[in-house]
Amino acid sequence: MDNYERISGEVTAAGARLVAVSKTKPVAMIRALYDRGQRIFGENRALELRDKQPELPDDIQWHMIGHLQTNKVKYIAPFVAMIHSIDSFKVLEEVNKQADRNDRMIDCLLQFKVAREEEKYGFDRASAKAMLEAPEFAALQNVRICGVMGMATFTDDMDVVREEFKNLKAIFEELKTSFFQGADAFREISMGMSGDYETALEEGSTMVRIGTLLFGERG
Ligand SMILES: *Cc1c(COP(=O)(O)O)cnc(C)c1O
Repeated sequence: MDNYERISGEVTAAGARLVAVSKTKPVAMIRALYDRGQRIFGENRALELRDKQPELPDDIQWHMIGHLQTNKVKYIAPFVAMIHSIDSFKVLEEVNKQADRNDRMIDCLLQFKVAREEEKYGFDRASAKAMLEAPEFAALQNVRICGVMGMATFTDDMDVVREEFKNLKAIFEELKTSFFQGADAFREISMGMSGDYETALEEGSTMVRIGTLLFGERG
């Protein structure tokens, strides 16, 4: 975990926030980073998140960063601080329903496909706009859309990665102008992982999601 100080310093200097991605890692490792001051942790599987949360301090902000099946939303709805991976209206509707049941508001990001790879999950501009214009979307009272999330192509070619981050930033700006004027909560661009977070910060990331550099390789 020697990288923690350096990376959190870089992220803070850029005015962004660090999501420590702890998927597959034991609670003892999460606790160790917590003891050094880290408060935001990210997990990509609902059941793993459900199981870890009660084992760790209450003031951790848990971020869900992986594809969420509708039948699993109920397990994390009582406590999740932010869901980065809203990739369909269907899942957003379910998050709204479960948030309502728990008498709370859940902060969400819309996940976009920006990589060259065939990505399974996420919106493109047209599908996001269609959702945001629909009356069914306007009816959701227990979710707050706080911005966008995306993953760049897994490549060493940083020019490709940079273009994809620029594209995600452009999508953010378009949505802000068209749908979220004056909505102060719409301000997050979640982009950047262990291999590309420096480029992401240069391109305007407000939240980087870093696992490997903090916790080591996953088995
Ligand atoms: C695992 C994961 C990360 C972190 O990846 P690293 O390369 O280990 O930093 C970031 N975002 C998502 C969506 C992930 O699933």
